[in-house]
Amino acid sequence: ESTVVSEMLEEVADRFSFQLQQRRIRIVIRIEQGISRIMLDRDKIDQVLDNLVSNAIKYTADEGTIHILARPVDKDLLQISVQDTGIGIPKKDLERIFERFYRVDKARSRNMGGTGLGLSIAREIIKAHGGAISLESEFGQGTKVVFTLPVQAEESEAI
Ligand code: ATP
Ligand code: MG
Repeated sequence: ESTVVSEMLEEVADRFSFQLQQRRIRIVIRIEQGISRIMLDRDKIDQVLDNLVSNAIKYTADEGTIHILARPVDKDLLQISVQDTGIGIPKKDLERIFERFYRVDKARSRNMGGTGLGLSIAREIIKAHGGAISLESEFGQGTKVVFTLPVQAEESEAI
């Protein structure tokens, strides 16, 4: 059974609708043409997306915007990014951000909840799927997490 990419992303946003409304944060989803369906372990990829969106919400001020973009890199590779307009991550922390239990500035993270495991689990899941995940951030500007998922030829289908 393959997953419809647009549905998967809309459902992530739906799972956070209460928090998004409370914080008046907007999620904008864009799906570029090329890959509409993909074979994946839906529970695992949902776990990745839930962590990325929950991070984006946690570290974005009220009334911010989160952009989720799905675009084909080529016919065999889907790229999904989650970008926020939040507080960002200082340069010195960037190289350690995927480590287990690593959190930027304990004081900053203390009231945010969580254990610092989300990104390390996300990386394991994406690796196990044959993809890659990376993070770019500008302190004070926002953060963008990008991951890829391979698409098997017979499973991809033009929109
Ligand atoms: P958990 O995911 O286990 O609930 P967590 O969210 O703190 O806890 P990670 O998702 O692994 O852990 O993120 C690690 C740290 O990276 C966070 O504590 C935070 O300091 C920083 N971080 C992650 N995503 C963002 C983001 N979108 N904006 C700013 N900082 C972020
Ligand atoms: Mg997290």
